[in-house]
Amino acid sequence: MSATAMNAAPSASAAALLPRLRAALPGEALLTEAEDLHPYECDGLSVYRGVPLAVALPATAEAAAQVLRLCREAGVPVIARGAGTGLSGGATPRAGTVVLSLARLNRILEIDPLARVARVQPGVRNLAISEAAAPLGLYYAPDPSSQIACTIGGNVAENSGGVHCLKYGLTVHNLLRLKVATIDGEIIELGAEALDAPGYDLLALFTGSEGLLGVVVEATVRLIPKPECARVVLAAFDDLGKAGQAVADIIGAGIIPAGLELMDQPAIAAVEPFVHAGYPLDAAAILLCESDGTPEEVAEEIVRMEAVMSAAGATDCRVSRDEAERLRFWAGRKAAFPAVGRISPDYYCMDGSIPKKCLAAVLEAIRGMERKYGLRCANVFHAGDGNLHPLILFDANKPDELHRTEAFGGEILELCVRHGGSITGEHGVGIEKIDQMCVQFGSEELEVFHALKHAFDPEGLLNPGKAVPTLHRCAEFGRMKVHGGQLPHPELPRF
Ligand SMILES: Cc1cc2nc3c(=O)[nH]c(=O)nc-3n(C[C@H](O)[C@H](O)[C@H](O)COP(=O)(O)OP(=O)(O)OC[C@H]3O[C@@H](n4cnc5c(N)ncnc54)[C@H](O)[C@@H]3O)c2cc1C
Repeated sequence: MSATAMNAAPSASAAALLPRLRAALPGEALLTEAEDLHPYECDGLSVYRGVPLAVALPATAEAAAQVLRLCREAGVPVIARGAGTGLSGGATPRAGTVVLSLARLNRILEIDPLARVARVQPGVRNLAISEAAAPLGLYYAPDPSSQIACTIGGNVAENSGGVHCLKYGLTVHNLLRLKVATIDGEIIELGAEALDAPGYDLLALFTGSEGLLGVVVEATVRLIPKPECARVVLAAFDDLGKAGQAVADIIGAGIIPAGLELMDQPAIAAVEPFVHAGYPLDAAAILLCESDGTPEEVAEEIVRMEAVMSAAGATDCRVSRDEAERLRFWAGRKAAFPAVGRISPDYYCMDGSIPKKCLAAVLEAIRGMERKYGLRCANVFHAGDGNLHPLILFDANKPDELHRTEAFGGEILELCVRHGGSITGEHGVGIEKIDQMCVQFGSEELEVFHALKHAFDPEGLLNPGKAVPTLHRCAEFGRMKVHGGQLPHPELPRF
């Protein structure tokens, strides 16, 4: 696949850093050879790539903090990295930068069944927390579809969500305390195990900050009891708009499903031959609507869910008969991205959010854009959160297809903003959506973001060029007024 490269020659100060890093990280903990650096060139969004100067793999929080301190002294940018499953280019390096991989910090430090918390290192996989808590009847609720691989540090940095976040909240709602290494090499503690902590809510500020303010070196997360029972309704619709309306009706009826996901026909057609989940191939769209709780609560809620979906025009409603069937229904949804990868040489996953009442109108508008850009799009998303994931299918080897895909994706995000939504629901801004930040925010808000960044990272060394555009960039993008074309902090790099 062709890629947008972000490479330049390393500076003298960057080269001088290597011996100091090597001394601080003995053994295999510093990678500098081209073949070792290759896997770190990009994240899950492979259209942007860059070769770093080095990859540091510290085994302790203190060593991670030391890497940050050495990079600050050398004036070299640092990019934190978990599993690299991000979809917005957040962990993608530039030439001359150091990737700080948290992969070796992968221990579950403590599970306290009485306090119902888990204390974990940042490189622990999301699913590993629930697996470790399962014998105690507990689990960690936020469940990104990438949970088999993605790390809790990456989840915090992106404020990740998943199928069950509609009822149980995003990462930020399930996080109690963080240890964060600053660019100075200090380790600070944010939050508390109590429900409230004094002072500014820096825990919330760090959650979703995409590695721009500090590096998570430990997280304490909330565990909740596994529900006694869960069942899912698979509802088929002959019209995508009706399925979108059913989502708004379910929420409007005061039902909070444990999960509420929508897949359109192209997504169903990709998934069913791959997973054999039992999805109806003739449906224009399906909804997966889960209820959990006691058996009595679930039985009562399922009846209400079916009634609302039938009234909205569902042509068929099937309720999972046992746990194996429930897991099979969800397996299709969870494998939707790889399934789409089988039917197209490349796909580009967008991530916008909109008010649920606008779902039908926005899905219809995306159909119109397919015609405008001459590209197909499969929709599979967290409908209950109004969090869209249009997957634009393209072939990077065909001239102009990547360019049209990016324009298509940008137009979807701007459509979300026009409907009162936002340019990202959970995948973060990264490199990918940085220009759309100029659509979402005015210069006043961006100045506040820059002031915060300046307070934690005055030289702009933590993950530069990601998530928050400079006012200069927005002025070039031409969507907003900029105060005299000046940055609020002229010393920050102007990417
Ligand atoms: C198939 C697939 C399905 C997905 N489904 C979902 C989904 O349902 N919901 C969802 O929210 N996301 C989803 N994602 C996106 C991705 O998995 C999440 O954003 C995840 O949280 C990234 O974790 P990671 O460990 O891979 O982080 P990385 O990709 O390594 O990094 C992501 C960002 O976090 C920063 N970062 C990483 N570790 C730290 C740290 N310790 N301290 C500070 N900053 C850090 C990086 O600098 C980068 O900006 C999906 C991705 C794929 C490939």
